[in-house]
Amino acid sequence: MPELPEVETVRRGLQQRTTDFRVERVEVLRDRAVASPSDPAAFAAALEGCSLAGWQRRGKYLLGDLRRDGDTAGVWGVHLRMTGQFLWLCEQRPPCGHTRVRIWNQRNEELRFVDTRSFGQMWWVPPHIPVEQVITGLQRLGPEPFGAAFTAGYLRQRLRGSRRPIKAALLDQSLVAGVGNIYADEALFSAGIRPHTPSGRLSLARLETLREALVRVLEISIGAGGTTFSDFRDLTGTNGNYGGVALVYRRGGQPCRTCGTSIRREKLGGRSSHWCPRCQH
Ligand SMILES: [Zn+2]
Repeated sequence: MPELPEVETVRRGLQQRTTDFRVERVEVLRDRAVASPSDPAAFAAALEGCSLAGWQRRGKYLLGDLRRDGDTAGVWGVHLRMTGQFLWLCEQRPPCGHTRVRIWNQRNEELRFVDTRSFGQMWWVPPHIPVEQVITGLQRLGPEPFGAAFTAGYLRQRLRGSRRPIKAALLDQSLVAGVGNIYADEALFSAGIRPHTPSGRLSLARLETLREALVRVLEISIGAGGTTFSDFRDLTGTNGNYGGVALVYRRGGQPCRTCGTSIRREKLGGRSSHWCPRCQH
């Protein structure tokens, strides 16, 4: 499943591809790909004729800034969910069976949304309406890991008295936005913290170490174009490079890169966790 680094990689690809991009035509091949408005034809009509002034990311949501004759024309929201991906096609190619939405620009280049599992969603938020009113999932999101609000003090306050394992807490999007299984495991290893540790027991100093580790791991992965583990591809169909350098994720039974101890793998809160019993306490 795409996590923050993968979504950020897609954001950068979209940003690069849509600087001179006027939506000429939108074709929705699968109605459920469009969450709002309920009529896919209305979604297509809203986007057609618009240009894109840029893309933002909030958690795992992509938000395109639509303009029509220079004025705001609302927001184009996208969530990739499990397997959603954008492809950039310079020449005409027939759609595959997993093609959900096709968007052509003024040069007949196509931005294609392909999604095998079909959980990906798009929204059009009309101008002057708060984005979170239409894309309600945004209401629950905690601070961005790179944001000024995400501090050790914030974590301490939110986790005070909690017996929930820190691994489970990190996956909670209302605590911090965009972190999933891969980067939670990697950050906990970097910080030397066992995934089972009750969140409320972590000192301010350890929470600061964890915050730094999380930011570092995410930055490294964004630099590598996202991870190789999922079906993730960027707009050019390239898979990311983080997988080759993973410290613990999906390395159960293999020697720890630091101390050589066998990496453990165990289900924790329904998700596989990977950690080193010697390096993490
Ligand atoms: Zn180790």
